[in-house]
Amino acid sequence: MNADADARALEDEFFMREAIYQAQAAACLGEVPVGAIVVCEKAIVGRGFNSPIGDQDPSAHAEIVALRDAARRLGNYRLPGCELFVTLEPCAMCAGALLHARIARVIYGARDPKGGAHGSVLDLFAEEKLNHHTRVVGGVLADACGRLLSDFFAERRAGGEKTGDPQEDKKAGEDV
Ligand SMILES: [Zn+2]
Repeated sequence: MNADADARALEDEFFMREAIYQAQAAACLGEVPVGAIVVCEKAIVGRGFNSPIGDQDPSAHAEIVALRDAARRLGNYRLPGCELFVTLEPCAMCAGALLHARIARVIYGARDPKGGAHGSVLDLFAEEKLNHHTRVVGGVLADACGRLLSDFFAERRAGGEKTGDPQEDKKAGEDV
C-alpha cells in the first residue's frame, strides 16, 4: 500500500469508530446495533443509529437516519461528495436511498448475509442501468462491527428478551 492508501485506510477506521459509537447507542436502547455517519470534507455532518422500534418506523435504519440528519444540516436533499460510514452492509432500501442522495462513497464494516445489498444477497451498487454510481468499500473494522451484533443477540438469547420484530426474534435464536 502506498502512503495515500495507508492514510485513507486510517481515516476510514477513524470514522468507522464514530459509526460504532452510534451502534452502541442503539444497543443501549434495545435496538439492533447498527450505526452510521455522513462525512463531508472530513467533517461529520450527519449521525444516525438503527431505531425502527423506538420510532415505530420500519425505514429508521441507521443510514436513513444519518442521511436525513446530514440533508437537513446541509440544506440539500442531495449529498454529492459526501461519504457514508455504516457498521453493517446496507440493505436494499438503504442502498436505494444512498444512490438517491448521490453519496460518493459508502464504507461499511460487517457483511450482512441475510440482507446485504452489496453482494451478500444482491448487488444494487453494481447495477449498470442505475444512473448514479457509488464507490463501496466493505470490511472496515468488520470484526468490531460484527461483534456488536453477535454480542447483542447473545445477550437477548440469554435474557429471553424479544425485539418485537418476529424476523429479528427469529434471527436472535440463531447464530449471527
Ligand atoms: Zn437498511
